[in-house]
Amino acid sequence: MAVLPIVRLGHPALRTPASPVLPEELAGRELAQLVADLVDTMRAAEGVGLAAPQVGVSWQLFVYEAERDDPERSIPLRVVVNPMLEAESGELVYDWEGCLSIPDLRGLVPRHPAVRVRGLDAAGQPLDFVASGFEARIVQHEFDHLNGVVFLDRMRDLQSLAFYDEWESYLREAEDDAPPLRPE
Ligand SMILES: [Zn+2]
Repeated sequence: MAVLPIVRLGHPALRTPASPVLPEELAGRELAQLVADLVDTMRAAEGVGLAAPQVGVSWQLFVYEAERDDPERSIPLRVVVNPMLEAESGELVYDWEGCLSIPDLRGLVPRHPAVRVRGLDAAGQPLDFVASGFEARIVQHEFDHLNGVVFLDRMRDLQSLAFYDEWESYLREAEDDAPPLRPE
């Protein structure tokens, strides 16, 4: 296992749609190694999700996990391969996002509050579940990475874009003033 370098905005891997993992590649050594490395890299960077293109690998695959130390709010580790997403409703909610490939920036991004996720796990077994709340936001953010899309592309305007320190000083507490829900 290894902590891999995370590519940053400007690297073509972040703007290139990833290829599906092929049936013969499922449950293979290369895939297992990449999954282990993605998890190590995500944890080392203190991120809540990481997609294969963020380490320069063009595969439709991401991992996520949040609040490991808080059983109440914990989102257990999940590996998602070749995913398809379907919004559970047309509603959108705004919340702050950052990205390990766009270090130090935060912005308000509209996302669906719940999405149905279909795909495979690392062993090639079918996945079909509904993610909601913060988990739904993570899944939509990581899914975008598989299509060459970053959170900046999803912002309705760039007024809320902020560096982390300034966000902590001026914006974090203003979350209640986030723009109202706008249906899509
Ligand atoms: Zn990201």
